[in-house]
Amino acid sequence: MSKKLKKINNFKAFCNQFERAATELGLDKNLADSIMMPDRELSVEVPINKDDGSLAVFKGYRIQHNNARGPFKGGIRYHQEVDIDEVKSLAALMTFKTALVNIPYGGGKGGITVDPRKLSKRELEQLSRRFFRRISPIIGINIDIPAPDVNTNAQIMTWFMDEYSQNNGYSPAIVTGKPIDLGGSLGREAATGRGVFFTTREVAKEFQLNLDKCTAVIQGFGNVGSYTAKFLDEVGCKIIGISDISGGYFNKSGIDINHSIEYIKKNGTLDGFKEGKKISNEEILELKCDFLIPAALASVINESNAEKLKCKFVIEAANGPTTPLGHDILKEMSIPVIPDILTNAGGVVVSYFEWVQNLQQFKWTEEEVNSKLENKIISTYNEVSSLRKEKNVSFKRSAFMVAIDRVAKATLMRGI
Ligand code: NAD
Repeated sequence: MSKKLKKINNFKAFCNQFERAATELGLDKNLADSIMMPDRELSVEVPINKDDGSLAVFKGYRIQHNNARGPFKGGIRYHQEVDIDEVKSLAALMTFKTALVNIPYGGGKGGITVDPRKLSKRELEQLSRRFFRRISPIIGINIDIPAPDVNTNAQIMTWFMDEYSQNNGYSPAIVTGKPIDLGGSLGREAATGRGVFFTTREVAKEFQLNLDKCTAVIQGFGNVGSYTAKFLDEVGCKIIGISDISGGYFNKSGIDINHSIEYIKKNGTLDGFKEGKKISNEEILELKCDFLIPAALASVINESNAEKLKCKFVIEAANGPTTPLGHDILKEMSIPVIPDILTNAGGVVVSYFEWVQNLQQFKWTEEEVNSKLENKIISTYNEVSSLRKEKNVSFKRSAFMVAIDRVAKATLMRGI
């Protein structure tokens, strides 16, 4: 991100997007305000005993944004830069993501301001268990269902589930993103990348592009970026640029994706990867390609770089990678932005499938999971795109309009 750029208040950026879509829908202002703001904001202090005998106290949050359509649903992030505005914006995005894909959930998100790499495994377990106990008065199988997010994983979900199960009996449905042996769903690990792939395939179909003649550039090569690359590569789309925290790698003849995935497994990062010219994470966004897929951080496409983009489409795999001003510039340049709440919804859709399997106490096959996910993403894409054409608005505006309309109707039907 440019050094000139001020730190973006993520919640304000969300409100800006929300208000534009709510105005287009003609929503009553008071109803819109009540849907836009979180229902409940919980801040907790999380003390732990460090291995050296000292006491450390961390700040944690659980934001319950909206539950008009079902229990609050959303991940818990461990990161040194977590703050309440970031968690609020991510919680709000969950409300509209679950509404857009029409699964019976609301939106929530949590986080702890901590760099987990600085904790031992014992410290991490104590932090996770104590955090869960502090938020547990507002958590429940039909109330609020946490999941993994940045720097949290199946092991941490298992500690949360174990804490809850101590008092309530074996309760896998209290969290999603669990290990397969403890009620996790087949297909969950690849689900977000698979959803990004299905979305990209629908864009190609609608705009009459042959995926096997297209090029893609992917920023971020973690869970989402690497699975997206794998699925696009499998249908012949040429991935000409990839990147991670170590920088970008460009090869106009196409990068060997299987090899780059093996490289990451072995080395942890792409650092030292020799199959592409080394470029920066800013430069990678400016490569000429059909699909630019930001799959790492928020706000990477903004007013300082949007006009330098040379892609045909931006496919938002990360949460909030395009700022509202960046989006306005891309609109002027006729570069469609396929929004995060559609593109990366595969993760929460399969989390929902996991919860359903837990409630049913019955395991689905991976083929069932993948085909139900595919149907969900295709039908959602079609709904967003047809409203976009009908109202002559952007993909992002149309996705928010579909989602806000669903939340508003549920709110009115239930009564405020
Ligand atoms: P991850 O931690 O597995 O991978 C993140 C990737 O980003 C890594 O390759 C990392 O090296 C790279 N990265 C970190 N800092 C960077 C920088 N400064 N510049 C470039 N790359 C950098 O995370 P993930 O699960 O793949 O999530 C990626 C994004 O997708 C996040 O915005 C996340 O909120 C969103 N998302 C993830 C899921 C999911 O199911 N995993 C679901 C919905 C949305």
